[in-house]
Amino acid sequence: MERRDFLRGLALLAACPLCVKTAYAAEGVHWSYEGEAGPEHWGSLSKDNSACAAGSQQSPLDIRDAVKADIPDLAIDWKGGGTILNNGHTIQVKAAPGGTLRRGDRTYDLVQYHFHAPSEHLVEGKSFPMEVHFVHKHAETGALGVFGVFLVPGVANKTFASLAAAFPQKAGEEAGLEGVDPSALLPSALSYWAYEGSLTTPPCSEIVDWMVAKNPVEVDPADIKKFTALYSMNARPALVTNRRYILSSS
Ligand SMILES: [Zn+2]
Repeated sequence: MERRDFLRGLALLAACPLCVKTAYAAEGVHWSYEGEAGPEHWGSLSKDNSACAAGSQQSPLDIRDAVKADIPDLAIDWKGGGTILNNGHTIQVKAAPGGTLRRGDRTYDLVQYHFHAPSEHLVEGKSFPMEVHFVHKHAETGALGVFGVFLVPGVANKTFASLAAAFPQKAGEEAGLEGVDPSALLPSALSYWAYEGSLTTPPCSEIVDWMVAKNPVEVDPADIKKFTALYSMNARPALVTNRRYILSSS
């Protein structure tokens, strides 16, 4: 839940005590990563989530049998700053405006980035300690272009360390970020896998052009612990590929 929506929800409750139901509907149904509101039940929690159960192009995937293809190089130009939010499901950074990802003739605007532990995508059955998702939107079509990067323990990453030091501890808390540059969370080579998929959280809409970096990025294991202290398991299990091709840049 975005803080804006949270505040709007509170305002609605204050203005209209009988509107409780409406306010909850506006926020979406509660969901989680385990138990009765866990991933295997997302599709039945609300009609809005039907794609979570009935969809055929769901994400994440276990990446295997990728097909080598002549897919365009990625050109990334992101800006530093933004705001960091604990939204109750993850830590999310609302990006400073003006950041872009260009893939061939498609240009997407960076909207936000957020973290999962462990990784949501697998590579030949192997998972990674964390995955960051850079969520971009195509200005004209509204399609999302999400770039996923695996995070593994190793040398400290300045950007991830700055974010970890600023993780808001409670759901709903938000703070400004001065000069934290997301570009430092990119691997040195931008070779990637690509496939058509979905949001990995309700409503699981099948509107995502997925790009997953082949090379992981090292971060300080102590910073990973700062994340898992808040969210020790916020990864949707891998879904079936169905008839999709996973393309691999050379
Ligand atoms: Zn995600």
